[in-house]
Amino acid sequence: MKFVVTAGPTREPIDPVRFLSNRSSGKMGYAIAEAALEEGHDVTLISGPVKLVPPPRAKLVSVITSDEMHDAVHQAIRDCHVLVMCAAVSDYKPARVAKDKIKKSDQSFSLDLIPARDILKSLPLSRNFFVVGFAAETNEMEEHARAKLATKNCDMIVANDVSDPMIGMGSDENAVTIFSQNGEMEKIARASKKFIARALVKKICVNAKKVLTKNF
Ligand code: C5P
Repeated sequence: MKFVVTAGPTREPIDPVRFLSNRSSGKMGYAIAEAALEEGHDVTLISGPVKLVPPPRAKLVSVITSDEMHDAVHQAIRDCHVLVMCAAVSDYKPARVAKDKIKKSDQSFSLDLIPARDILKSLPLSRNFFVVGFAAETNEMEEHARAKLATKNCDMIVANDVSDPMIGMGSDENAVTIFSQNGEMEKIARASKKFIARALVKKICVNAKKVLTKNF
């Protein structure tokens, strides 16, 4: 199968030297890309800025901003079977990017933020590829994950509780709960991101084969 995996954070520029971003390390997305390659799949890895070595056999597309990731995803999904949106794409971006470095002053100042484009919501409703979204939650994980499954146009949502500093963002370990459109819920207990990625790729393939009508 042809996998497209997004990973890492995006950076939203404020001025030529500053940006808004988040703590995503990219480890989960890179582990998924690696696990898919191990299973013999083709992988396009669309990556925000991270400090990781990409798997050599992946086709790497490096991006910085949410708009660049949006465009790269739309390009890559023209020919794919599975899209895994593991990236921590910014929810907001500055309304304007200052041309010159913003000068320090004694006055308080506020940034005007506008919603970044939601890549999952921008995907075509009628499509022939399987879409996996991620939900990083700090509270009421199940409720939020189920809501995302309904509103974000996904076939599957992988939720992780990022309030636990031992797992999730930045860590080498994770614990996830997988929510599927048929109401199914499956927990994968705390384990290395590599282990979780292998289990996820297997589950994604089983579910994708049920809904896809094209050959792979
Ligand atoms: O709404 P929230 O940001 O929590 O949703 C997370 C999921 O949505 C992830 O799969 C992430 O890759 C995706 N996302 C997106 N575009 C955004 C923000 C998040 O596709 N602007």
